[in-house]
Amino acid sequence: MALWVGVQQDRHFAVTETVIPAQHHIRTSDGVCVIVPAEELHRLNVWLYKNGLKLMAQIHSHPGRAYHSTTDDAYAVATTVGCLSLVVPNFAREPFDFARVAAYRLDGKANWNALSSAALLRMITITS
Ligand SMILES: [Zn+2]
Repeated sequence: MALWVGVQQDRHFAVTETVIPAQHHIRTSDGVCVIVPAEELHRLNVWLYKNGLKLMAQIHSHPGRAYHSTTDDAYAVATTVGCLSLVVPNFAREPFDFARVAAYRLDGKANWNALSSAALLRMITITS
């Protein structure tokens, strides 16, 4: 699980850092997942606040297909309306490619809505 953080400028958001929070993995009958402990979430939020940064996306991988599981919906780290959640297939073994990422955006009713690759690519500009 990694997080994109940065600063908002009107309708644009500049990602300035990737943060990899402390996390541990668990295996359940449903599969595998990572958990970011409550203390780490608190530490992260204090750090974001002190540095004037906002969390705009979370990225994690799955062993196989990329999709937003019910666990992903329920335990998202990014919880601000408009945040993105990107899921990378196959434990991110292949080179990163937006076209193969499953992308979701959080709406005002706390639903994660799937974004097409085209919609995702229209939203993101890589400048460096
Ligand atoms: Zn997941």
